Amino acid sequence: MTVPSLDRKALDMRRGACPALSAPMMTGDGLLARIALIDAISAGQLAELCRLAQRHGNGILDISARGNLQARGLTEISATILDTEVRALNLPLREGLAVEAPPFAGLDETEIVDPRPVAEAIRQAARGIEGLAPKMCLVVDGHGRLRLSHLLADIRLVAVRSGESIRWKLLLGGPEATGKICGIFNEADAIATAISLLRKLAAMGNRARGRDLADGLPVNTDVPPPVSPFGRFALSNGVYAIGLGPAFGQAKAESLIMLSERTEQLGIKFLKPALDHSLLFFGTHEACKALSDFAGQNGFITSSADPRGHIAACPGSPACTSATIATHDIASEAAAECADLLDGSFKLHVTGCPKGCAHPEPSALTLCGTADGISLIGRGKAAEPPFASVSFADTNASLRRIADFVRTERREGENSAACLARLGTDRLAAAVTSGRP
Ligand code: SF4
Repeated sequence: MTVPSLDRKALDMRRGACPALSAPMMTGDGLLARIALIDAISAGQLAELCRLAQRHGNGILDISARGNLQARGLTEISATILDTEVRALNLPLREGLAVEAPPFAGLDETEIVDPRPVAEAIRQAARGIEGLAPKMCLVVDGHGRLRLSHLLADIRLVAVRSGESIRWKLLLGGPEATGKICGIFNEADAIATAISLLRKLAAMGNRARGRDLADGLPVNTDVPPPVSPFGRFALSNGVYAIGLGPAFGQAKAESLIMLSERTEQLGIKFLKPALDHSLLFFGTHEACKALSDFAGQNGFITSSADPRGHIAACPGSPACTSATIATHDIASEAAAECADLLDGSFKLHVTGCPKGCAHPEPSALTLCGTADGISLIGRGKAAEPPFASVSFADTNASLRRIADFVRTERREGENSAACLARLGTDRLAAAVTSGRP
């Protein structure tokens, strides 16, 4: 038998490059391949993917913040075999440009419009456009219950009502909160404008991003608060969904196989990996409840109240050689000890190094591993200057001091993000270093 060799030219090994299935990215625990889906799969297909991750990698799978499955610990040869065998499963794999729609699109009575036809039209029209940035991404959002507002997008179309008609607000760059408004269009013009912007970006070279076209445009101001995918949802036509997830977006294959087997026993036909490291399962009310109970008993996040769902932690040490800290251990301790700080108003970012893979956007509070200890960053990205630095041994105690300070200072009705912002980094630094405000 001839073992296929990996086409090194096809690999995009640059730091931060999008690790697609056929172009895996090198990480601290080997190559990482992304399995990006554009539709639901069955529990049997998820189990089969997990078995492939066990056979060809180290059996650890991530569900990314954007809802992609990632198989870790691959070698050059095993990544090629995984690629072939995943394709043989006949999954709805995304090929080409990432054009994302919310996971309940078409099933959500609260959405203004089903965004999938617009997303598909853009996908088709963009097929011939060469030379875009590897991580170029479009979001087409029907303005329903689970939105993709906090995810970065080069171009974002958001459905809006205009009297009796439906129109599309086109934003450039950022999450929705900081995207710049390019215009509000009817459907045909929104698609045509998105394609014309993509052509413009392609002509600017493969480093050009949506934000590069946004100079001078007004910032979006109409942004709803994020909704957690964890918990139960009543959808249209009597369909229910339950959102579950492994802690910090990472699971062993055997644990997901066990969940898949229970899913099949309960007669749940479809699932989708989705935003915020979740898996959404679609079935009857009873089946969703039974699966939620089973998942909760087996350590999965099943509720938006679980503080682990409010922490973004990268794989950290030992999985990634760039990491100086065991991010998941720190995050687990933080969830157990600082649950009131983690009220869902922000994501606590725990990162093994300043690259900040788990949360590219700014966070109200970040713990970042460095060569000498931990940097604490307020209202910024992991690479931004810290307001305090502490020793490795003092990490969780420092976080507890911040949680105690917020508990003492919190005003009535104020959430943690607002309280942290109001207190400011000087007072937080004083609380960390002295243990007192
Ligand atoms: S952020 Fe985490 S996963 Fe990414 S390179 Fe740094 S340590 Fe590794």
